[in-house]
Amino acid sequence: MTFEDLGLSPSTLKGVTDAGYTTPTPIQEQAIPLILMGRDVLGIAQTGTGKTAGFTLPMIDILAEGRAKARMPRSVIIAPTRELAAQVSDNFVKYGKYQNLCMALLIGGESMAEQERVLDRGVDVLIATPGRLLDLFERGRIILNDVRILVIDEADRMLDMGFIPDVERIVSLIPKIRQTLFFSATMNAEIRRLADQFLMNPKEVQATAPATTATTVTQALIIVRPEDKRECVRRLIRAEHLKNAFIFCNRKRDVDILFTSLTKHGFNAVGLHGDMPQPKRMEMLARFKAGEADLLVCSDVAARGLDISAVSHVINFDVPFNAEDYIHRIGRTGRAGMTGNAITIATPYESKALAAIESLIKSSIPMLMEAAIEDLKVPMQSGDAPRESRGPRGGGRGREPKGRDRNLRKDRDHSPRHAPISSPVPAQLQAEAEVQVSTPQAAEQPVEQAFAYTPEPIIPPARERHERSDRKNSRPRESNKWARDAGRMEYPDDAVGFGSAIPAFLQVAPTFLPPEPGDAEAHVEDE
Ligand code: AMP
Repeated sequence: MTFEDLGLSPSTLKGVTDAGYTTPTPIQEQAIPLILMGRDVLGIAQTGTGKTAGFTLPMIDILAEGRAKARMPRSVIIAPTRELAAQVSDNFVKYGKYQNLCMALLIGGESMAEQERVLDRGVDVLIATPGRLLDLFERGRIILNDVRILVIDEADRMLDMGFIPDVERIVSLIPKIRQTLFFSATMNAEIRRLADQFLMNPKEVQATAPATTATTVTQALIIVRPEDKRECVRRLIRAEHLKNAFIFCNRKRDVDILFTSLTKHGFNAVGLHGDMPQPKRMEMLARFKAGEADLLVCSDVAARGLDISAVSHVINFDVPFNAEDYIHRIGRTGRAGMTGNAITIATPYESKALAAIESLIKSSIPMLMEAAIEDLKVPMQSGDAPRESRGPRGGGRGREPKGRDRNLRKDRDHSPRHAPISSPVPAQLQAEAEVQVSTPQAAEQPVEQAFAYTPEPIIPPARERHERSDRKNSRPRESNKWARDAGRMEYPDDAVGFGSAIPAFLQVAPTFLPPEPGDAEAHVEDE
């Protein structure tokens, strides 16, 4: 099937040709004709499947007829994060260049006055994160009575981020007679309930089998002491001959610390997390996309949907708290038919999070055999099942394994370092990775100014320093934040308390605490 068969207008087809696409992806084949017919669509698809073009191309054609009035958008697209909203808006610009549509991107962290000015001129397409959209609505800057098409993108992510009440509110403000397109990567009971609530007699479409070249992401695991993590990352970057990498941390504070540390050690890095000012977030991303920085140290705000081709590595500086985030994180590499590497750095205290991931992906992540980091390796907590090892680069035997690897079976696998793992890459990830992708826009991304983001200092704030020094001398009081946190930690079996031994809560770095409400990315995205 070709794009011409889908019923798109000649000018939109011209936009598609300019983008370099020759064949529609499965989701595009299914969704485009339905949307052009005016049907509601329930799409089970994630980024990487071509779903954005799947809804933007027909929307461009539908909206080509008619004109927008001031402050009354004719269509609304809601996306969970600013970066995803910006990506959708890039798609409109790219495919709609031969149509005369006005578009507004409403995301937190950008000048509201400028967004209001654009709204006043009248927009055909409004692309927004939920918080900023409601904010402008409440200020009377947007009237939603003229909306004829509503797109809810990445519904499952919105659910995870706690945005569903906002989304429900937005939907209640939009006329009932409309066309609704609802996309989600997964379909659980809650997503199904929302789909039933928002859609009318929808047609269900799904991104199915891989479209083109099989892609593999080689996964590997290293277990080190918390204090060795940064050293481990540095050695990995050097040893892996890495081209570029996403380096994921669980906490925004650790993004800052790691970014500062890597920069200090001479690496070409940028940082990205939800507490940074929006212009900086965009700038960091643009620099990484343009290849001006090799390393993007980031929180999970960058885990989903970011479409940057040819990323050679993903390094998990922390095991993600949420197992599904692992799939999204490692899906940043191995895109567009290329191979990718995903290396997870764990500590002995993260066995539960690791087990949850391995149960989700239905395979165990092999240990990385890399001579450069062998001396940093430590065993996982006792009682864990032995784990297969990855062979060293080029298939050699490497140094005799230490620590955890001492328990490994004699017949452990020493297969070449970068061979694909035998366990299947999860279907979800395959669907995301295996679509034929071409991203000319990555290289075109403008870079406006030199990097000037100053992260938080590594020196802890005064109160934290005081609390840390307290811990040297006395058992922490229950009112002490560290003590409360310690109650939620997993202790190594050999931690016995005071005397010659170090209490377990002093051994455990704060990176391993479960997130606190203030740490979550969710509520900062749209402020
Ligand atoms: P998405 O799933 O919308 O995030 O798209 C992922 C990537 O696929 C983007 O870089 C698109 O530019 C690219 N893409 C979308 N449709 C096609 C197509 N029909 N052929 C090749 N690449 C495509």
